[in-house]
Amino acid sequence: MIERLGQPLAEPIFEELAIIGVGLIGSSIARAARRRNAARRIVLADRSVEVLERAKALGLGDLVTDDLARAASYADCVILCAPVGASEAIGRVIAPALRPGTVVSDVGSVKGAVIAALQLALPAHARLVPAHPVAGTEYSGPDAGFASLFVNRWCILTPPAGADDQAVGKVRAFWQVLGSHVEIMSAAHHDLVLAITSHVPHLIAYNIVGTAADLEEVTRSEVIKFSAGGFRDFTRIAASDPTMWRDVFLHNKDAVLEMLGRFNEDLTALQRMIRREDGDGLFALFTRTRAIRLGIVAEGQETAAPDFGRRVGETDEPIS
Ligand code: NAP
Repeated sequence: MIERLGQPLAEPIFEELAIIGVGLIGSSIARAARRRNAARRIVLADRSVEVLERAKALGLGDLVTDDLARAASYADCVILCAPVGASEAIGRVIAPALRPGTVVSDVGSVKGAVIAALQLALPAHARLVPAHPVAGTEYSGPDAGFASLFVNRWCILTPPAGADDQAVGKVRAFWQVLGSHVEIMSAAHHDLVLAITSHVPHLIAYNIVGTAADLEEVTRSEVIKFSAGGFRDFTRIAASDPTMWRDVFLHNKDAVLEMLGRFNEDLTALQRMIRREDGDGLFALFTRTRAIRLGIVAEGQETAAPDFGRRVGETDEPIS
């Protein structure tokens, strides 16, 4: 793997970092924070004993525990890294243990619902700074994580009204040290943007793979055999964690439904172009969409390497 994280910090940003939920994202944060000395001590908590055993075997933190409140009690920063539907329950468990001034953050793919849940659950003396690293893979669990996951990716912070400036500054510095570019926006705007860039694409992938699986005229082995024709890329997305994505759709319902409405209108227009054999219309749209792809490559968020299902390029990182 190419080393792109910087040198360890002389002074860590946090004294004790508690990570709750040691899956792909939580374990990647632990690995990156340790490599960069972003926290003096790292405490890992999860409800799953097997996950904790793996985290211990992999040496991801200084302490692993299934006692979430204990994990939070000495921390000056707690990051929730479980599926978004668990946010309120976790908030309620850790609330009595939090010391005044502790920064509480998260990595949830949905922000409005998570903020509402955490504001209900957390004490007023906790300093809430929600975050969403826009980085990931279709894999789950502590073995799937890697330290460079966040390098050159965006992390969006959505501090609620009245958020503590110093706490926001620390969370921003933390993600920058992990290699991310940081942007701040409102939770509502985040949820709308991510609905179209991430949530609806996942829904489309789940839908098309489900449709193919249910087809009667085309056999399952034909679907698998001839999958290079675009379908394969959908299957990668549709392999994403079912719990995480169930929670995303249930907690970003309004924005997803709004974007799906627009998507359906545009799909109807495309259907009409095909029916009317409007080649110019199809060509114009495909030219516009190609420019978006080139823009993503130019921004360094994707490589231009051809991808026919074989790992290309110089890194052995999971394709994300
Ligand atoms: P993951 O690999 O499935 O890990 C989640 C971990 O949280 C699991 O070990 C799970 O244990 C644990 N957990 C679930 N409920 C819990 C609870 N109530 N208390 C303590 N631990 C609990 O998930 P992930 O992909 O890292 O995603 C975690 C978060 O990151 C989600 O909020 C997601 O929206 C966000 N995110 C994900 C991606 C991505 O691409 N995956 C990208 C950006 C942000 P069990 O196995 O027992 O359920």
